[in-house]
Amino acid sequence: MDFRKQFFVGPGEKLKLAGIDPAHTGGHASSEEALPEIQKNVARMAELQALLYADGNQSLLVVLQALDAAGKDGVVRHLFSGMNPQGTRVYGFKQPSAEEAAHDFLWRAHQRTPARGEVAVFNRSHYEDVLVVRVHQLVPKAVWSKRYALINDFEKMLAENGTRILKFFLHISPEEQLLRFKQRLDDPARNWKISEGDYSEREFWSDYVGAYEEAMSKTSSKDAPWYVIPANHKWFRNLAISQIIVDTMEDMGLKLPPTRVDLQEIAVKYHAAEAAQEQRAGKTPKPPGKK
Ligand code: AMP
Ligand code: MG
Repeated sequence: MDFRKQFFVGPGEKLKLAGIDPAHTGGHASSEEALPEIQKNVARMAELQALLYADGNQSLLVVLQALDAAGKDGVVRHLFSGMNPQGTRVYGFKQPSAEEAAHDFLWRAHQRTPARGEVAVFNRSHYEDVLVVRVHQLVPKAVWSKRYALINDFEKMLAENGTRILKFFLHISPEEQLLRFKQRLDDPARNWKISEGDYSEREFWSDYVGAYEEAMSKTSSKDAPWYVIPANHKWFRNLAISQIIVDTMEDMGLKLPPTRVDLQEIAVKYHAAEAAQEQRAGKTPKPPGKK
């Protein structure tokens, strides 16, 4: 199944999240069945990241957005753990600092976009400025409503500069969210994740749904696609996202750069160095080429 086709939000489409089952599991029966595929994807993601780094001409930006407890942190932990930290950056966007708030809303996002060869993961993103900001009327409608077009221009500019952009909305049900809040309450290792806001934000669920629907339909495009990922089942979420990342990176035409030196010349130098090394160690050097 091509998850990219299945979960893509059509540009300008009248998106209705209520029509998408958050508990969808595709053709898979269980987590056990999906695990080998997830592991294979995670391993391939790591190889492709190394290739992206070596290639050095393009970059990848992954945006994760969702309501609380939908699994943004889990995606980072499970799927990006295999990538080399030298070349992969994860950034969590919180409430803007005073300095950030004193600039335009894209300023802080732009500073974190991936350089050529890099992968950047945004845990929340510039989209908060048309989501939480809209739901809580932190700026007037006249301001946030102009931001969709500004975001599209910003992302188009990144794409033209060689950045592949993938945007994932982790879609969970309110029941699943409450279940996860209960786990946070019951498990001392997860208590720290609880915030007062978790419960008050639940009351704005339908406002958030409306804000997400409009944001995704207005900012999804071939170059910067949004995908709505059914995320009640963590394993299905991990499978779908990892598969979409692998399929996208496979299409980027990444290749190892040409060798910068004359390999024959270097081989001669190598043999000379080897001979000198062995002489220092008191051995008779072999003539070059002899095994
Ligand atoms: P968490 O992701 O759980 O660490 O929470 C980060 C918090 O920062 C969330 O409540 C977000 O809604 C909030 N946040 C992120 N970006 C913005 C923004 N631009 N304006 C207001 N709040 C934001
Ligand atoms: Mg939170």
